[in-house]
Amino acid sequence: MTTRLRTEVAIIGGGLMGSWTAYFLRRRGLSVALIDKGEIGAQSSGVNFGNLRLQGRHPGQIPLALRADAVWDRIVEHLGEACEFERGGHLYLAFDEAQMAKLGHMAEDMFRCGVPVKLLGAAGLRARWPWLGAGVAGASWSARDATANPRLVTPAVARAARRLGAEILSGTRVSAFAKDGERFRLATDRDLEIESDALVNTAGAWGPQIATVFGESAPVFAAGPPQFVTEPLPYFIGPSVQAADGRVIFRQVRRGNVVVAGYPRGASDPVANRAPVDPARTLAAMQSLVEAVPRLAGTSVIRVWSGIEGYLPDMLPVIGVSRTTRGLLHAFGFCGHGFQLGPGVGLTLAELLVDGGTSIPLSDFDIGRFAGEVAHDERLSREFDSASLAATGWSAAGKATLP
Ligand SMILES: Cc1cc2nc3c(=O)[nH]c(=O)nc-3n(C[C@H](O)[C@H](O)[C@H](O)COP(=O)(O)OP(=O)(O)OC[C@H]3O[C@@H](n4cnc5c(N)ncnc54)[C@H](O)[C@@H]3O)c2cc1C
Repeated sequence: MTTRLRTEVAIIGGGLMGSWTAYFLRRRGLSVALIDKGEIGAQSSGVNFGNLRLQGRHPGQIPLALRADAVWDRIVEHLGEACEFERGGHLYLAFDEAQMAKLGHMAEDMFRCGVPVKLLGAAGLRARWPWLGAGVAGASWSARDATANPRLVTPAVARAARRLGAEILSGTRVSAFAKDGERFRLATDRDLEIESDALVNTAGAWGPQIATVFGESAPVFAAGPPQFVTEPLPYFIGPSVQAADGRVIFRQVRRGNVVVAGYPRGASDPVANRAPVDPARTLAAMQSLVEAVPRLAGTSVIRVWSGIEGYLPDMLPVIGVSRTTRGLLHAFGFCGHGFQLGPGVGLTLAELLVDGGTSIPLSDFDIGRFAGEVAHDERLSREFDSASLAATGWSAAGKATLP
């Protein structure tokens, strides 16, 4: 027999975005059902690198990122657990003068947005972090940046939402969506139908499938960076570190393992639910890791993985109200930067639904921007391998319109 669930807000996608949205909506008193086809937080939200980085973000994202940062600061108050949240700071390493000049421009942008970023020369850098390799020419340093354990965060947010009364439906794929008058009607792959006044699309790389049903579109490409983790070593690194050109990104967890990632990203498969990693990428990132931290030579890699993240050609997410359907909100395609933004997105979507507006500027993230020409971000050619970029149909530079 089919069960019918009636709720004020149905949220499709129990990643970080959907879970924080459910949490903040319950705090504002709305009834909420959070629905995921698999386990809560098992996709990008649970497999990411764990960086909560402010420096280097697109300036248009900073108001949202600062809002998120204020929630991260009070994570224990919100969730009852810290999820390994730690303000260890973040370094961008430059290996030559050109990279250093780029970091200088980025630091100026960040200063204008209210994020203090300091530039450090080679000598100052090595005095503080003597384990850095001889090839490092300088760095930018953001002391406020943080990390957390992605495997812990989203389930903890969903548990907090459930304690406040949210329905959490894992193992439930929404298979059909419709709007019938003022109500959304959702069919699922279980004997469960859901009826809601509002619908939130936080379906990650699968977000466009829902948008399309309502006559909207976004050219999302599913990909992920190769990631790996080393055997545990005595703790010595401290901050989270990223080569300015992305060839290696690393941090050491307190248990001693060094978590490593590195561009280029490769294509992943949201249909087969696979995120393969070419072993050559792990070897290349390991080599770059040893250039940055020579004392890690000979360290063993114990696990390799990636994830299914949604990327858009301008490297900005879709966040905001639908252009076609009243009561529908989108927040998907976070382009590799969503872990930090999650609580800010949840608060903002809750505000949009309860108050009908928000003070956070969202125009850069409007789904309607894909109706015309979209400028491609220069990072595409650097941060994605050429085969997966070719598969997107996007060019490394220039503009594109939806087919
Ligand atoms: C390897 C990797 C490293 C990363 N590193 C970082 C980092 O260090 N810092 C950072 O800020 N960001 C990072 N990111 C990006 C970050 O993880 C994502 O931007 C963020 O987790 C996106 O969250 P989400 O809730 O939008 O998507 P997801 O976590 O993908 O959640 C979407 C959910 O929707 C569900 N869903 C889809 N369709 C349906 C349906 N029809 N019915 C029911 N459920 C459905 C899926 O099962 C999924 O659980 C990284 C990403 C990857 C892959």
